[in-house]
Amino acid sequence: MINVTIAIDDIHPEKGWGLPGDKCMEYLDKLNKEFGAKFTLFIPSNYHNKYPLSEHKDWIDWLKSKDYFELAAHGHYHMCERTDIGECEFFELDTEDKVQSRINLMMNEWGKVGHNPVGWRNPGWLAHPEAVKYLGSYFKYSAVHYDHNHNLQWDCKMIFGHDGIHETDINLHNGNIMFQSHIAGDWNDNCWNEQNYKQMQMSLKFLTENNDVVFKTIEEVTCRKKVIYLIAVGDIDYFNHTYPLIEKYAAKINADIRIFDNNDLRKTNYPSPNFLIFDVFKEFVNSEYEQMLYIDADIRIMNQATNIFDEIDTFGMVQDHKADLWRRAKMQEWLDKHHNGLTVKHYFNGGVLASNKSSIKQLLSVVPNDIIEFWHTTKDMFPHGYNQNILNYCIIKSGIKYQELSAKWNRICRNASENDYFIHYVANKNQIQTDLDKFKDNNYNPNITMTL
Ligand SMILES: [Zn+2]
Repeated sequence: MINVTIAIDDIHPEKGWGLPGDKCMEYLDKLNKEFGAKFTLFIPSNYHNKYPLSEHKDWIDWLKSKDYFELAAHGHYHMCERTDIGECEFFELDTEDKVQSRINLMMNEWGKVGHNPVGWRNPGWLAHPEAVKYLGSYFKYSAVHYDHNHNLQWDCKMIFGHDGIHETDINLHNGNIMFQSHIAGDWNDNCWNEQNYKQMQMSLKFLTENNDVVFKTIEEVTCRKKVIYLIAVGDIDYFNHTYPLIEKYAAKINADIRIFDNNDLRKTNYPSPNFLIFDVFKEFVNSEYEQMLYIDADIRIMNQATNIFDEIDTFGMVQDHKADLWRRAKMQEWLDKHHNGLTVKHYFNGGVLASNKSSIKQLLSVVPNDIIEFWHTTKDMFPHGYNQNILNYCIIKSGIKYQELSAKWNRICRNASENDYFIHYVANKNQIQTDLDKFKDNNYNPNITMTL
């Protein structure tokens, strides 16, 4: 799956430069309708000291009403006072005072139109090292040029790539296709004129016909709101088979992946990597992500799996396939013994967990301080259990609002069918991607039987 972003610089409220009814804006609308293209608009907040955003709030609102635009910052005046360096506004700002006061002017304009841009691009590609020092902290990403950035380190994410919309030789940049353009201007080759629009139409047609392409704004590529956590410690062969599918799924739902590994385990005294789930929770609540999915590393994600976050409002898990048989009763027995007054209604399998931040915070508030000591109190009833009973205890104790997800989101492999989404191999780890696996290569083969 390839992300395609299209950036457009210098848009401002001037006839021919981004107003409603301008030909260039019609082209963008057409490419969105035809291909689903999205655009990141790099907007100077007071272009050439003539177009302050605060006097054009209607225009900003109009841009924001279109869900295929991201509005990002691109300097204030865009131009310089000096006449010998082109329009590299932030290249001539070489002291903290100059930089900060220009940033203030700019952020004021954005503030007055009620938009907080998360992205930035230097006007004229260049910025003074002194400016870069301060700019980064105002934004979540900076879209920079391989050469013109001069190896400066920004205090935010950096994203590279600038293939002109008029070009036919397009490169991949860290897995993304990054088209770059200017809305207008005689001095640029990559403006939104008719010729370049037609070229883009051909490029996008080619890309969408020959690749698995997803259009995104640069914000969507750089600032993901979702994360998939995995615990993969030690020598687990099956991970080679499950991980590529997890990666594919992450791309599909636009999530980052964070793997807890040997390094994370080494910092703890846990007798099993399973307990790292509580460290996953702690990292998540302190992260910038809004939603998390935890899945066991021995889960095979099928191609047809949809976005699990579409299924849950706050917190969702799948009941253990043995919940109704005996685990729930056993859990109740254990609660009665150690935590009188608590009632188990669902007994969840620890293999799949999707949640927003506030539910995990609520869960963490009841996680015992000494997890291992607590674990020992579960062993009278669950001599072979690790984190799962503690997790279920925390769910009950915290009283979080949860949803029981359908079993297809965490199906025990021996009961699996071609309609399932996440298939949990549990004790069948050595069967994954062998002839015994009826989902080998994701092709359902009903003739292969699996046993536990
Ligand atoms: Zn520009």
